[in-house]
Amino acid sequence: MLKRNRSLVDVDRDYLIHPVTSFRGHEARGATLLQSARGMYVTDMDGRELLDAFAGLWCVNVGYGQESIAEVAAEQIRRLPYATGYFHFGSEPAVRLAQRLVELAPPSLTHVYFTLGGSDAVDSAIRYIVHYFNAIGKPGKKQFIALERGYHGSSAMSSGLTALGNFHRNFDVPLRWQHHIPSPYPYRSPVGDDPAAVIAQSVAELRAKVAELGADTVAAFFCEPIQGSGGVIVPPTGWLKAMRETCAELDILFVADEVITGFGRTGPLFACEHEDVNPDLMTVAKGLTAGYAPMGAVLMSDAVYQGIADGAAPDLPIGHGQTYSGHPVSAAIGLEVLRLYTEGGILANGRHVAPRFAAGLDGLSDHPLVGDVRGRGLLGAIELVSDKTSKKRFDPALKLPERLFAEGYRNGVIFRAFGDNILGLAPALCCTEDEMDMIFARIRQTLDIILEKPDVRSAV
Ligand code: PMP
Repeated sequence: MLKRNRSLVDVDRDYLIHPVTSFRGHEARGATLLQSARGMYVTDMDGRELLDAFAGLWCVNVGYGQESIAEVAAEQIRRLPYATGYFHFGSEPAVRLAQRLVELAPPSLTHVYFTLGGSDAVDSAIRYIVHYFNAIGKPGKKQFIALERGYHGSSAMSSGLTALGNFHRNFDVPLRWQHHIPSPYPYRSPVGDDPAAVIAQSVAELRAKVAELGADTVAAFFCEPIQGSGGVIVPPTGWLKAMRETCAELDILFVADEVITGFGRTGPLFACEHEDVNPDLMTVAKGLTAGYAPMGAVLMSDAVYQGIADGAAPDLPIGHGQTYSGHPVSAAIGLEVLRLYTEGGILANGRHVAPRFAAGLDGLSDHPLVGDVRGRGLLGAIELVSDKTSKKRFDPALKLPERLFAEGYRNGVIFRAFGDNILGLAPALCCTEDEMDMIFARIRQTLDIILEKPDVRSAV
């Protein structure tokens, strides 16, 4: 029975399970409910306006309140709110979005399968890869390799490619065919921060892992061009290309997970473009619809597509599908979002403010709490340490991430506060220079206040 006259926060506590949240921790803290948003700002239920320096969950790349998206969505809902992709049905928005994505993506990618988000894009990639190797007569290739600190989703299969403790603990993953090699993390690399050494180390780790598993057993290597949820870890320029080439040499598929880095987040439409990398498959989501509706996609090369097509019986379906694959409303929104990026000036604005973002990050490097700042385009991180020379992390007992987030909120800015005291930033690409300066002023103020807390002061 419904309990009446309770505040929404109480109702939330009673009924709603939040993603990636401690149940008991949430019961104790309660929800922060948002009620509206415009441009770079969100407004909470108490009417407090906050600068969103994280674009929701690194997805609202075009900013909030884009009227043309609302119009396109309403029009599509009126005309055709749903069309299945089963039984050879389809809809104009899904077809046009697939075509547009192939036009804009790295040239190796020629076919698109639509999903509901990133986790099922990664799952779809895994399933198609398994199908592909069976279809082309290499059924032994079933092992998958990804990076430590990588994030590829939290579904039953993608969570084991993810290599973050919270996603593994008590969930019985990774599965036995899922393996990880060290992350290319220049700030904390055992070989130092020399780019050539970091790249050589990753290549050697990949080769060693493939040799250990047996070259003819490995199907694919998955990586994010910049690791997002692992703490915005930016590998040296040349790393992505080196890994791609190593995969080609070892006869394993190279999958770029551009769920965060796609759609202008690092400058170009896709991060692969920085190094002219042509993946065998690519997963996308988030910025594809800029969070205005759920949608993801897996793009695949012609070789993978043809392998699956030729290997399957023409009279039997290839049993992979979802009710909402190619959803016409999401697809219509995706088309409008792509138009805003390209013709609407959003990508250009993102590139225009990127130097201001980089300057804001650099400007914080002298702060007593800051050990490292890093970023590319409008994706960045500030890593806090208790000792700049030894790079020692703060004691988790200080619960700094929660305190940083709360203090940032009080100062009117939302960022991500990761477990290792890394602050993640991903402002929308429509951000102005003034808004960018305000983000960094509020972050500095937040760090100053935290530094003055006696337990933090005594730990520095
Ligand atoms: N891959 C990457 C690189 C991601 O960052 C994410 C989400 N943060 C996912 C996959 C999973 O996407 P979703 O949350 O939409 O399932």
